[in-house]
Amino acid sequence: MTSSTSSAASSAAGHGSPGGRATGAEPLGAASAPRPPAAALRGTPVVPGVAVGPVVRPAPRPQLPPVPADGGAGVVPEDDRDAELERARAAAAAVAERLTARAGSAEGDAAEVLRATAQLAADRGLLGEVRKRTRAGAPADVAVVGAAEKFAGMFAAMGGLMADRVTDLHDVRDRVVAELTGQEEPGIPNPEQPSVLVAEDLAPADTAGLDPAQVLALVTRGGGPTGHTAIIARQLGIPCVVATAGAQDLAVGEVVLVDGTTGAVEREPDLERAAQRVHRDRGDRAAAASWVGPGRLADGTPVAVLANVADGPAARAAAGGPAAGVGLFRTELCFLGTTVEPDVEAQAAVYAEVLRPFAERARAAGGPGDGSDVKVVLRTLDAGSDKPIAYATPAHEENPALGVRGLRVVRRDPGLLERQLDAVALAAEQTGLRPQVMAPMVATEAEARDFGVAVRARGLVPGVMVEVPSVALLAARVLAHVDFLSIGTNDLTQYAMAADRLSGDLADLNDPWQPAVLALVAMTAAAGRRAGKPVGVCGEAAADPLLACVLVGLGVTSLSAAPAALPAVGARLASATPEQCRAAAEAAVAAADPAAAREAALTALL
Ligand code: PEP
Ligand code: MG
Repeated sequence: MTSSTSSAASSAAGHGSPGGRATGAEPLGAASAPRPPAAALRGTPVVPGVAVGPVVRPAPRPQLPPVPADGGAGVVPEDDRDAELERARAAAAAVAERLTARAGSAEGDAAEVLRATAQLAADRGLLGEVRKRTRAGAPADVAVVGAAEKFAGMFAAMGGLMADRVTDLHDVRDRVVAELTGQEEPGIPNPEQPSVLVAEDLAPADTAGLDPAQVLALVTRGGGPTGHTAIIARQLGIPCVVATAGAQDLAVGEVVLVDGTTGAVEREPDLERAAQRVHRDRGDRAAAASWVGPGRLADGTPVAVLANVADGPAARAAAGGPAAGVGLFRTELCFLGTTVEPDVEAQAAVYAEVLRPFAERARAAGGPGDGSDVKVVLRTLDAGSDKPIAYATPAHEENPALGVRGLRVVRRDPGLLERQLDAVALAAEQTGLRPQVMAPMVATEAEARDFGVAVRARGLVPGVMVEVPSVALLAARVLAHVDFLSIGTNDLTQYAMAADRLSGDLADLNDPWQPAVLALVAMTAAAGRRAGKPVGVCGEAAADPLLACVLVGLGVTSLSAAPAALPAVGARLASATPEQCRAAAEAAVAAADPAAAREAALTALL
């Protein structure tokens, strides 16, 4: 079988919670929040933008024949088997021809997707399997379904981009079966008014024919950020959310608001507010497209907008963009496939690759480029849990997210940290840029103290991440030992809410808008303010433009996120005053739940 191109991004998926109602027991502020949406579904946002409209769904997929365990062998008499094979071939050829013709009148990625699907319909491997099955006596439609399932299983087992092709394969299967059995060809209806298209997953050939004037947004229950639906939606600029749990329950005709930035799909939205959000979104997108930094609020108050990077190439790219520096260099991602710990020199070379582009940029701008004028924050190895590293992670742990991960690896091998810090110091010497160095998964004051001593001993600037609630609670005491804090909202949320960050089922709990998480951020920022030391956020929360304003309102002094997210964050900050940010923060912390917190923040920032 052949494969086709795709692009990459990643995120988690899950489902949302019903909007809460204020009760007497709720904190002040909850009762005065605007009416929360009836319910919000949550998926993986892949194309930013806000749209509101009625739901439409694609034409139903054709009825597929069951495939018996023996593949349907012996059903067709021997004399008729050649004709049966011919029928299958002709149906596949007709489908391929139609798709190729549509590719001819499409452009760019859309044309490529249509051609790739046409190729799949004519794929020799697939037709070979159909031949084998029809020769054994299977009816043509049964042979097609059986052959497609065989390859779909193989693709799914391969994972990644190949798994994304399962949707393509099922589309080809359905079209060929529809052709063979005289059923309506599956596809997108022509909506009577501009609508939100909701589907299990869209077949690439369907997405390729989408008209952005008619399809305001796309929501799929399945699919992933690298699938064809996402690629085409990006090309067409249609707001898109994939892997949306609960999307199957959306009824045709029901009005939904789709937020392709946050992944929220709101049911029964307040139509007046929805229109305001759509209007605002248009303005935001235009502003993001022209944002070039530096980060500041509407009144000019500076907010450092920094990049999260994982290696030298990403750092070089980020240094060419608007990021003021690096707020999180995830060093463990450089060694995921490494079985033996690299020596100090080899590690230093890797770290220097990230420091150098920013040192050079700062010097080109006339600064010393030594770290006093450009911030690069390197995080020591966060091995373990979802990022196991062969040479650092214990082999079998009952509960790795609560196990020996991050800084805790020094309990088993203190030399790991010593050598990594030596390598960072060497990279600093080689590049002339003294980075700030922070530890992940710190839980106690003593850990912060020991880390601070080890980092300072090498002439570097120490900080710790706030990922475990214990550190937020004792932030002032921790700050006595280090120079800055950086809040990892991904883990802080997971540990504060006791909800596995990888669990789609618990995604509503794993939401940094949870008021409890915001309260922990507020405590941490307040401690930083009292100590006169900076407190940043480097988790995914910093990539959400609305939440970025709330975080700043809570007292956070820098935001670090994937470079692609920075323009929208920077532009949104530039439109908000400090007073608005503070009001949004206060309202969000006082809200009853994440949906109400978003809504309250939106109101404060309008
Ligand atoms: C976090 O937990 O928010 C964080 C930035 O670290 P990671 O996502 O790498 O665990
Ligand atoms: Mg973390």
